[in-house]
Amino acid sequence: MNISGVLALWYANHKRALPWRETKEPYKIWLSEIILQQTRVNQGIDYYYRFIERYPTVGDLARASLDEVLKSWQGLGYYTRARNLHKTARHIYYEQGGKFPGHYEGLLKLPGIGPYTASAIASFCFGQVVAVVDGNVGRVLARLKGIATPVNSNKGKKELQQEACQLIPSHDPATHNQAMIEFGALQCTPGQPDCPVCPLKDICHAWQHDQVDLLPVKAPKRKKRLRYFYYIDIHFNGSLLLHKRSERDIWNSLYQFPLIESQRELAIHELGNTREWQDLFAGLNPQIQAVSPLYSHVLTHQKIQARFIRVHLQQTNAQLEQSYRQISPKQLPNLAVPRLIDKYLKQEKYPKNG
Ligand code: SF4
Repeated sequence: MNISGVLALWYANHKRALPWRETKEPYKIWLSEIILQQTRVNQGIDYYYRFIERYPTVGDLARASLDEVLKSWQGLGYYTRARNLHKTARHIYYEQGGKFPGHYEGLLKLPGIGPYTASAIASFCFGQVVAVVDGNVGRVLARLKGIATPVNSNKGKKELQQEACQLIPSHDPATHNQAMIEFGALQCTPGQPDCPVCPLKDICHAWQHDQVDLLPVKAPKRKKRLRYFYYIDIHFNGSLLLHKRSERDIWNSLYQFPLIESQRELAIHELGNTREWQDLFAGLNPQIQAVSPLYSHVLTHQKIQARFIRVHLQQTNAQLEQSYRQISPKQLPNLAVPRLIDKYLKQEKYPKNG
């Protein structure tokens, strides 16, 4: 059976109409691929349109400020993608004359572009014969070929890449890659693949050996780290106090309230006894006005339990003045903040008078 030919036919009959499939422009393909890493198509499509409208060319994206790009990205998570997007746009616009490298090796050198994205751009835009292996493609190959090595292990990734390279035709690699991805997304799905009507069922190892539920194999994920965040929503003179997060940690470059982090859950009186609280409010008389319910926020490798403590101040001190900006509530919609803080701001109906 010519697997690639069968997939191409299936693709012609089943593919979804998606805007990034209507173009071969590297900028648009790259944008869509970065957005779709870790994001479902349904959610990603709105962001794709938003970015294309605000930044129609790589030059528009390069000339925008990082703050603005992070704000446009807000809600999608994994903000490293947005920072790399901006960095790469600047590199391409200012150092490459606005042109993307036209081959896999050159693309791979750009920030935030790994083997998957480089092969997607190289094959979709330039017709280079390089196989794309994402989660969808990996699942299809593991089932089709009976690969029992965990797909999220380095060994498994290598095996899948080899299988994918053997399947890709030199004629129209773009359609083949698109078809593999779409086949995994719509036909050979994680939970309920539609095997009885699958055009590959006669040669599918998993279907023939009753292993569809067993493949692909995944190595257990490491346990999520649990973190407790206490955000201090300080109201002073009609303003709120925020700063830009600069740690090498999650949410770098996003705005946040003063934060006290703990390894365990703290009662409010315990929070008031921490060194961080004492330093933050040295010489002041903070009035706690409200304590929010617990907000849970789950990331790939960590789970954050957060509370927001609303505090009113009559005056500030040197520490607050040096480390935080006074922000009028009306400015809040222009600042990029983590989704966790955005949820709180919406719950509290900000902007409102401080
Ligand atoms: S037969 Fe089932 S498991 Fe095999 S490729 Fe088709 S949909 Fe996937």
